[in-house]
Amino acid sequence: MRNAIVVGGASGIGWASAQALATDGYRVVIADINLEGARNRAAALGDPHRGEFVDVSDEDSVAALFEQTGAVDAVVSCAGFSTIGLIVDLAVEQFRSVIDVCLTGAFIVAKYAGRHLNDNGSLVSISSLNGRQPAIGMAAYCSAKAGLSMLTQVAALELAPRGIRVNAVAPGFVHTPLTEGAAMVPGVVEEYVENTPLGRAGTPEDIAEAVLFLTKASWLTGEVLDLNGGAHMKRYPDIIGHVMKMASP
Ligand code: NAD
Repeated sequence: MRNAIVVGGASGIGWASAQALATDGYRVVIADINLEGARNRAAALGDPHRGEFVDVSDEDSVAALFEQTGAVDAVVSCAGFSTIGLIVDLAVEQFRSVIDVCLTGAFIVAKYAGRHLNDNGSLVSISSLNGRQPAIGMAAYCSAKAGLSMLTQVAALELAPRGIRVNAVAPGFVHTPLTEGAAMVPGVVEEYVENTPLGRAGTPEDIAEAVLFLTKASWLTGEVLDLNGGAHMKRYPDIIGHVMKMASP
């Protein structure tokens, strides 16, 4: 049986990806900072899937996860979160906390994935539309995801001699717990949809479908796949603008 680890697999896109991999025949380790969530998700999948703790901002924690799992065939790197705030107002600690998880965390996962993936295995990271499309109030997140898109290409070059493929999916706005707050601000989803040729926001399943494809695509590496209903051809919603409008109608 092939083994997979989904980092950040207790929720949203990670959980949908874990289900897709399990359906495809992988034994899945769902790893998350939310251990209870990871265990519950693994229990929902049933045997032989497992839930484990990991904090991607802590190298020892990531090393322990990979060491206890052993050799793997696919790794999906999903852990992430964002803050909202204009650069002039953003505390350095807030900026660092997003970089720590979304960029340094993704680097640490790539480091141990590179050591533990079998030859011809696959690493898929979840970058973002915001890795190429700037959004007001999202400096830390946009910077981290732009870095992750480049990290993907460097890792693809370095791991190619072993046949390991390294790709990323760059989703647009997807309904998950991460975007619940933004989705509640009147106008945000509407503006995203207006600027999305396919006319809707995404679902975790839309992303999981592409994650599964990337684990299989045997001649594809160093790719950052825009998956956003075509929104990358237009512009990102002004979340801060909508928050201000809501605060002073
Ligand atoms: P989510 O909040 O539903 O899931 C994120 C998961 O990451 C959670 O289970 C959380 O516990 C886990 N996590 C957070 N910090 C962690 C840490 N330090 N170590 C280990 N696990 C940690 O969010 P989601 O929308 O499913 O996001 C998954 C990924 O997709 C993120 O990297 C996010 O940036 C990216 N993404 C999301 C969207 C979107 O619109 N939802 C768009 C583009 C990219």
